Amino acid sequence: MASNTPQKVSCGILRLEHVGRDVEINGWVNRRRDHGGLIFIDVRDHDGITQAVFDPEQAEAFALAESLRSEDVIRVHGAVRRRPQGTENPRLATGDVEVGVHDVVILGRSKTPPFPISVDEDVDESLRLRFRYLDLRRARMQENMRVRHRLVKAMRDYFDELDFLEIETPCLIKTTPEGARDYLVPSRIHPGTFYALPQSPQILKQCLMIGGMGRYMQIARCFRDEDPRADRQPEFTQLDVELSFVGQEDIIGVMEGCMIYTWRKALGIELGPFPRMRHAEAIARFGVDKPDLRFGLELSDVAPLFAHSEFSLFRTLANEEKSRIAALRYPDGAALSRRDFDALTETAKEFGAKGLVWIALARDGMKSSIARFLDDGLVEKLRTAVGAENGDAILLVGDEYAAASDVAGKLRIEIGERCKLRDPRKFAFGWVLDFPLFERDAETGGLAPAHHPFTAPADGQEALIDSDPLAVRAQHYDMILNGYELGSGSIRIHSPALQKKIFELIGLTDEEIADRFGFFIEAFDYGAPPHGGMALGVDRIAMLACGETSIREVIAFPKNQMARDLMIDAPSTAPEKTLRELSLEVRAPAAKGGRTGSP
Ligand code: ASP
Repeated sequence: MASNTPQKVSCGILRLEHVGRDVEINGWVNRRRDHGGLIFIDVRDHDGITQAVFDPEQAEAFALAESLRSEDVIRVHGAVRRRPQGTENPRLATGDVEVGVHDVVILGRSKTPPFPISVDEDVDESLRLRFRYLDLRRARMQENMRVRHRLVKAMRDYFDELDFLEIETPCLIKTTPEGARDYLVPSRIHPGTFYALPQSPQILKQCLMIGGMGRYMQIARCFRDEDPRADRQPEFTQLDVELSFVGQEDIIGVMEGCMIYTWRKALGIELGPFPRMRHAEAIARFGVDKPDLRFGLELSDVAPLFAHSEFSLFRTLANEEKSRIAALRYPDGAALSRRDFDALTETAKEFGAKGLVWIALARDGMKSSIARFLDDGLVEKLRTAVGAENGDAILLVGDEYAAASDVAGKLRIEIGERCKLRDPRKFAFGWVLDFPLFERDAETGGLAPAHHPFTAPADGQEALIDSDPLAVRAQHYDMILNGYELGSGSIRIHSPALQKKIFELIGLTDEEIADRFGFFIEAFDYGAPPHGGMALGVDRIAMLACGETSIREVIAFPKNQMARDLMIDAPSTAPEKTLRELSLEVRAPAAKGGRTGSP
C-alpha cells in the first residue's frame, strides 16, 4: 500500500504491519458502542470486521457516527493504528488494530432488521427465508457459501485435470424420468404444448456420449416435482458425470478420486479409500441401503434363537422364511427407566414397527419387556450376538424382512444419535453396489426401475429379465456419506433392443415409448459406445461438509419445506394476459400460502 493515499481495503485485511497507513473501508455497521467519549463501530463486509473509532475532535464524522445504526452502509477514511494495550481482540483477525476515522460517508440507511445480523442466534426459519438477503449477511451463511464455492471449484478442477469437458445441457426439454413428476413450462408459440424441466440431464448426457464427447461433467440444475419432504428442494444441483468405454470400476475410481481431491483441496481433510458393500449386505448389517458408517452397532440376525421360544410372536417369525428378527446393542441403555423404554417403543412405532422388545442388562439384574419368556441361556446368546456388556440394553425388532430391517436401521441411527456417535466433523464415505435392477412399484404393483430405466443389468443377467426380473442385479452403485445417499450411477444400456424391452417391462406402451423416447432409441441405432456415469448431490455434499443438517443452509435462495420461495413469493398467480398468451385457463383457485397466507 502507498503510504498517504487512502487505499481501499476490505474489512478482514488490516494487521499491525499496516499501522500508519491511510485507508478506506466500506461495509455495514455491525455493532456500535459508545464508550469513554468515543464511538466504536465494527464495520463488516464479506471479508471480515474492522473496528473504526470516532473521536469528537473530528466533529463532522463524530456527529454522523452518532446517527449510525446497525446495518447502515458506510465508507470511512482514516489511519490504521495499534489498539491500546489490553483492548486487542484475539477473536478477530484484525483485532490488533483499529482505524481512527477522520471522514465517514453514509452510503445507505437501514431500517431495524427483523433479526440480529451480528450475533449467531436461532431465528425462525420462515423469517430468515423471507429476508434471505439479510440472513446471507450473517456469519454462518457467509461461511457456508464460501465452503460451497470451494467444494464446487475443487470438483471442476479435478475433472478439468482429467480431461473432462463441462458441457451445459438445456433446461427446456422433454421428460427425463428419475422417479418424480416433471415441472412443465407452457410454450407460447406452440399453444397447448409444454416443455419439461429436466429431472436430471440423464438422457442428454447419454446423447453426449453417443455424440462422441467422451468425458462429460456438469454442475447441473435438476428439477423434481415431489411431495414436500423435510429436506427436499424442487430444484437442486448435481455434479453430473458421464464417460464412454468404461466399466463400473472406472467410474467408481473417478468419483471416489473426486471426493478425495475435493475434501483435500476444499476442506484440508485426507480421506482413506471408501469401504464397499453389496446392497443386500448393507440391509443385513445396517438395515438401510445408505448406512451411517461413522459408528458400529451393526444389526444381528437372531431369529434361530427364538425357533422354540414360548414368545409366540417371535417363534412364528423365526419359522417363516421371509421374516427377520434383528437385534441391536444400545450402549449404556440399561440405565433407561421403563418409561424411557415405553417412549422408545413409541419412537419405533413411528418408524413403522409393530412393537419393540427390549432387554436391559442392568447390573442389578436383567429387565425386559418379555422377561417371562427369557432364560439366562437365551439372554447370554443374545448378548454375545450383539456384543453387549453389562449396563447395555438389547433391542429386538421382528417383522417381514424388509420392514424389520427398515425399523432396526432407523433405531440404529436413533441410538447412534443418543450415544453421540454421529460426529458431524467425521466423514464416513462408502459404496453400496449390486442393487437389484427392478423393484415393485408400491402403487401399481408393477415393475419399476430401482434406479432409472437406462441402467444395465449385471453381466450375464440379461436372460433372467424375462424369467425372474426381480432377481436381476444391476450395474448400479451408490456413494454414501454419514447416512445419506450422495448419489447414484450406473453402467447404461447401449443396445436399442434391450432399452426398448426395459421400457416395455416398466409398463410403457409403444406409443409412449415412441413419443417420449423415440429420438433416444433411434440414437442408439447410430453406433452407441458402452458408457456409464454418476451424479452426486452438490447440496447434500455441501451440507455435510459444512456440518449442517438441512440443505437449505447451503443454498443461497432455497424454497421452504412447502416448495415456496418466501422472499420472491413464488409460486404466484399469473396475470390474465399472460395466461391468454399461453393459451392456458386456470381451473382450480389459487392455493393459499402466498405472502398473505401462512408460509
Ligand atoms: N441421473 C442419475 C440421477 O439423477 C444419475 C446417473 O445415473 O448418472 O440419479
